[in-house]
Amino acid sequence: MSELMKDYIDDAEKVLLHTYNRYQVVLEKGDGVYLEDIDGKKYLDFCSGIGVFALGYNVKAYNDALKAQIDKITHTSNYYYNIPAINAAKKLTKFAKMDRVFFTNSGAEAVEGAIKAAVKYAYNKNGAGDYEIIAMDHSFHGRTCGALAITGKQAYREPFAPLLGEFKFAEFNNLESVKALITDKTCAIIMETLQGEGGIYPASKEFIEGVNAICKEKDIVLILDEIQCGMGRTGANYAWHNYDVQPDIMTTAKAVGGGVPVGAFLLTEKVAQNSLVAGDHGTTYGGNPLAGAAIDKTMDLFEELKVTDNVKEVGAYLYEKLEELASERDDIVDRRGLGLMQGLEFNKPVGDIIAKAIDNGLILINAGANIIRFLPPLVITKKDVDDMLVILKQCL
Ligand SMILES: *Cc1c(COP(=O)(O)O)cnc(C)c1O
Repeated sequence: MSELMKDYIDDAEKVLLHTYNRYQVVLEKGDGVYLEDIDGKKYLDFCSGIGVFALGYNVKAYNDALKAQIDKITHTSNYYYNIPAINAAKKLTKFAKMDRVFFTNSGAEAVEGAIKAAVKYAYNKNGAGDYEIIAMDHSFHGRTCGALAITGKQAYREPFAPLLGEFKFAEFNNLESVKALITDKTCAIIMETLQGEGGIYPASKEFIEGVNAICKEKDIVLILDEIQCGMGRTGANYAWHNYDVQPDIMTTAKAVGGGVPVGAFLLTEKVAQNSLVAGDHGTTYGGNPLAGAAIDKTMDLFEELKVTDNVKEVGAYLYEKLEELASERDDIVDRRGLGLMQGLEFNKPVGDIIAKAIDNGLILINAGANIIRFLPPLVITKKDVDDMLVILKQCL
């Protein structure tokens, strides 16, 4: 590491609130599926900024669209209409197979809005505010108070208790455990279609379709959090499209803005018509013209570049290669995931492997202490997978 980089890291540790143990690298730019640090060292990126850069870095058409919007206007406030947000809303609702959208600035805010919409729906039905929401063990929904309240990781929640509302946790992929928690006050069930931070666990078909059926039968709002697993990551536009289910509300963020801070929650017409109304919810920045332009262009590029087709093809290749690797090694105990969201579980913490990989020019992340998470840009090629494996094997 250069003296310059060391100085920047020292400076950072003096002024930034220490909420992350960061890897010892200062990144400066990116191109394609490679990142570059301030010393000019290149890294093959299998993290994509935690699933944000689906299209990779420095995509000219995307950059040009954003620059053009910056030269017009970046913000107007939601008291007025703006064309980029209208275009983004039309394309995103179609892409997601939902009816209406509310734009936010982040994933956690999308989850907050989804909770409010679900609670308001129940309130309109029953006239009472006494609701319960069922969430899942090992889930992750964000760091704001409401989103944290339904995040199924004790260590994240405990220091901030009591958090908002009546929340209960069921066991993911155990339908009986969900049934056991349902009461006449249950207003919503929320889950990630494919759990990310919790360790890359896809919902089983029986489970998610079972929960969907219960929700339809009892008029409970089904919220699917697609913030990490959505946007083509599994080879479908949204992961729930892989199953025979229909969420009442879904959340999206991370990749949907292609790199600028954007999120959204989307609703069916039925829930939209019977939940939040003017005055119930708002945001200063959400859906501003810059965010709108980013989503609009991301949607176009997804179609032009046939991103989901690439995920199906390269995802299957990655799966095969990780399967091979897992069968060769005793320290790998499981392999899970869908498309380009895959996990390798080891019988030991993976922090050292990841640090070594970064030294060797490969960016990886974990999902829980023992699991390496593969979350590359969705435009990677089979050759990128091969290159990644060469470095990974050196680090094991
Ligand atoms: C990242 C993530 C969030 C939170 O999104 P932020 O933009 O960090 O607030 C919520 N849910 C899931 C599944 C996520 O992966």
